[in-house]
Amino acid sequence: MAREFEVVGVVGLGTMGAGIAEVFARNGLRVVGVELDDAAIARARTHLEHSTARATERGKLTEQDAGALLERISMTTDLNDLSEVDLVIEAVPERLDLKAEIFAAVDKIVRPDVVLASNTSSLSLTELSVRTGRPARVVGMHFFNPAPVQQLVELVRTVVTEQDVVDDMVAFAGRIGKVPVVIGDRAGFIANALLFGYLNHAARMFEERYASREDIDAAMRFGCGYPMGPLALLDLIGLDTAYEILMTMYNQSKNLMHAPTPVFKQMITAGLLGRKSGRGFYSYDGPDSPKVVADAHSPADGAADAVSGRPVQLVGVVGTGTMATGIVEVLAKAGLDVVVRGRSEGKIEAAVGAVKRSLDKAVVRGRLSEEDREAAIARIRATVNLEDMADCDLVIEAVAEEIDIKRAVFETLDEVCKPGAILATTTSSLPVIDCAAATARAGDVVGLHFFNPAQVMKLVEVVSTIATAPDVVATARELCTRLRKHAVFCGDRAGFIVNALLFPYLNDAVKMLEAHYASADDIDAAMKTGCALPMGPFELLDVVGLDVSLAIEQTLYQEFRMAGYAPAPLLEHLVTAGRLGRKTGQGFRDYSAR
Ligand code: NAD
Repeated sequence: MAREFEVVGVVGLGTMGAGIAEVFARNGLRVVGVELDDAAIARARTHLEHSTARATERGKLTEQDAGALLERISMTTDLNDLSEVDLVIEAVPERLDLKAEIFAAVDKIVRPDVVLASNTSSLSLTELSVRTGRPARVVGMHFFNPAPVQQLVELVRTVVTEQDVVDDMVAFAGRIGKVPVVIGDRAGFIANALLFGYLNHAARMFEERYASREDIDAAMRFGCGYPMGPLALLDLIGLDTAYEILMTMYNQSKNLMHAPTPVFKQMITAGLLGRKSGRGFYSYDGPDSPKVVADAHSPADGAADAVSGRPVQLVGVVGTGTMATGIVEVLAKAGLDVVVRGRSEGKIEAAVGAVKRSLDKAVVRGRLSEEDREAAIARIRATVNLEDMADCDLVIEAVAEEIDIKRAVFETLDEVCKPGAILATTTSSLPVIDCAAATARAGDVVGLHFFNPAQVMKLVEVVSTIATAPDVVATARELCTRLRKHAVFCGDRAGFIVNALLFPYLNDAVKMLEAHYASADDIDAAMKTGCALPMGPFELLDVVGLDVSLAIEQTLYQEFRMAGYAPAPLLEHLVTAGRLGRKTGQGFRDYSAR
């Protein structure tokens, strides 16, 4: 017989505890919440009232149900009030000594059969369990923030957890509408082990002023479809909590990717804990408010226009591949005149044909008028001679990702293009300065990293080298606005913003699979339902192509020499075996039968 949980104790009603209490109460359970003092209880009440009011506004909860929900939650400052509960979940700050103390105390108060769960994000459940007289009935029940919204619950078992306790907790997670994955006791479990290296890296980028906080966040939202950028997410998680999680992971892994970057400690010491304190990477209009307000780091109005760009009407595109074709279409649709250069008549015909077919599709879908299609097509001129780029105001190179080929193109463009013409590269991994150095106009060279498919993806990374002139960056900014793209600005480092943040995380997922900690399905599910990512890491790797992914990881490793960036051997083996993902029918998964 499965255990029935009717009354649940929640110790600590902060960011997570209050949300967890709400989840239980929404599902008809009675909750006894324990906090430190009356002020903390008042804070928790306000948190719950705000959260249920938001759910009511959105029509997810009737006012009557919201009232009943709140009535099911009682709050106290005395742990002894937990004597009658059927399950206890602890959500106090992420410190082992504090949690162990609470576990030891609660162990003496509740019935012997009661399961003790911790919401810890990274601490060892085994360590906590041995502080009690019931190690076999101690588990991790790791909710995600905000608990009422995120579906995933990681159920963590130790080497001594009884199987029936695990089974009961899986059933219980289902009853409260969550998706459980059962895993072993390793720092960070699945989701945080993969997420926090990425978050730490984003904080480091911010600290090094590689890009602004707004651009780092926008890059991941528009480049990867993430619901939130990493710095906004850190503010939501709480910087103190993030710091503790990173420290626990670092102590276990000794992986520098997990060593909290110094800015965390500085911000925590200064009281900038994120949303809960009203200020973290961003400023909010009050503690616990999600509303971002302008501060000293906000881009000042008009600052972007301080330098004006050069006039651009005629744009050259070198190349006839996927990216070049997409970019030609985007340019022509935005009213720019385009000269596209291919190496043969055949390649050009194919590329222009692809643009026409794509425009036709847009007409069929009602997104483009026939007139606009004709006008866009009329603006495209094709050539096999780079010399025909002579009058272009800007040329975008999108040829094969090989430095010698790109340098040769830049050398010729530099000779044939008029003075003042801007030369841009779409490279995703080569140094832009290498292209610039092939010319006698390094100041006029910039990276314009479009994402695939260029017609759809809103993001463009504008990459400045040490030589790029400010009015060239301004021109790139203005062009992106005309193309209705979201431009973010960064320096000339391997991976720019998006790939540098994304691929080490994907690599970590492969290493986790290789270590047999969890299956590809569980890892994908955890990242989608716990972190609301649009795709799991293995789904994404198979779509991007394992060869392309491996090449990016190698570039990142060669540039930064972080041991953690070294490509996972499993990825190398799959590439060697020709399993490159969807394009070959097999990668991490087999698509041949589908
Ligand atoms: P928080 O600082 O927002 O809340 C902790 C609460 O515990 C505070 O309200 C504090 O007053 C209370 N508290 C402290 N000592 C207590 C005691 N002795 N008895 C009762 N209450 C006490 O922290 P949080 O972000 O809610 O994190 C809580 C736990 O949840 C941590 O283990 C954290 O790792 C984990 N977690 C956090 C997130 C997240 O995104 N923040 C997500 C999943 C899990």
